[in-house]
Amino acid sequence: MRNILILTTGGTIASIQSPDGLVPGMSSSQLREQLPQISADIAIDIEELFHIDSTDMTADHWIQIIHAIRDHYDAYDGFVICHGTDTMAYTAAVLSYMIQNSDKPIVLTGAQKPIGFEITDAKSNLQDSIIYAADSRSRGIQIVFAGKVIAGTHARKVRSMSFLAFESINLPEIAEINNGRITRYLTDPAFAKAPCDDAPDTRLAKTRSNVRFYDKINPNVFLLKLTPSIAPDLIPEIFRIYDALVIESFGAGGIPASIEKTLLEELSKYRPEEKILAMTTQVTYEGSHLETYEVGRRIADSFPVLEARDMTLEATMAKLMWILARNEKDRPALSWADIQKLFYDPVSMDTLAAL
Ligand code: ASP
Repeated sequence: MRNILILTTGGTIASIQSPDGLVPGMSSSQLREQLPQISADIAIDIEELFHIDSTDMTADHWIQIIHAIRDHYDAYDGFVICHGTDTMAYTAAVLSYMIQNSDKPIVLTGAQKPIGFEITDAKSNLQDSIIYAADSRSRGIQIVFAGKVIAGTHARKVRSMSFLAFESINLPEIAEINNGRITRYLTDPAFAKAPCDDAPDTRLAKTRSNVRFYDKINPNVFLLKLTPSIAPDLIPEIFRIYDALVIESFGAGGIPASIEKTLLEELSKYRPEEKILAMTTQVTYEGSHLETYEVGRRIADSFPVLEARDMTLEATMAKLMWILARNEKDRPALSWADIQKLFYDPVSMDTLAAL
């Protein structure tokens, strides 16, 4: 028997039609009535955490999810979090940094149509998620959606209405689920190297119980998306208010002359560990490469900067929020070298997918 805990947070999957549009409000008993029949070998409990449209997701909600998993971690074999699709990629990335080395699967899923609708993706997404979470080879944080299993650090919502809503960015998918059958690819953490070498003939990772939960996050990260001819006026204010700035640049990456001077003037007032600057790209695939062009090298040579490379924007934001929570305000606890190490090291050395 495998024991699975479903945590509900709201989103379309658990929404009900109201005169004002879809509202997330389905209770756990209403959801249970809609659950697809899977297997008598899987026991399912449901706990309602909150009922929100994921547009309203905050750092406090993330902490509630983490606490719920931590409190029930020993009692269940796997977890399925029902979540709105709009911010699911952020939550998946946050959980990937805040819950590390989990030998149990923590799956996020949702739907583009509510579970109570006649035509819906909710039932198949939930069914696939439960099957994946109940499989003893599954581990770590993933999104299961439309038959795809995507690493929590590489997911992105790419369609706002149709069922194929998520894609894995800069990393192949981890697995596929078709008619209840899981096909695992080599990126699956299940194929990671066993942590101790006493079973060289098996490629499956050994289960370990060194899961680590973090329960502090600092969401004080600002995202600045560049547009041609962008004005510099906002930059001093951003540094006054925020602890980290992520600049979503064009293409391989670089800073336009229109804001470069102000940006460097402002940055020079702080040590790099006081105000973290990270560069990423607006281009979906293949990541940032600051060293390619002179406009990119100029910023990398002028000020210490983190480069997202093949991390998604969601993962970059989430990882900075996790790092910042370990850095005390006004008296940074981490050196710039510590921050670089935390940012560039994969969160879990035994998974290929956790960058
Ligand atoms: N607005 C909804 C949400 O993210 C969309 C969805 O669930 O698909 O909560």
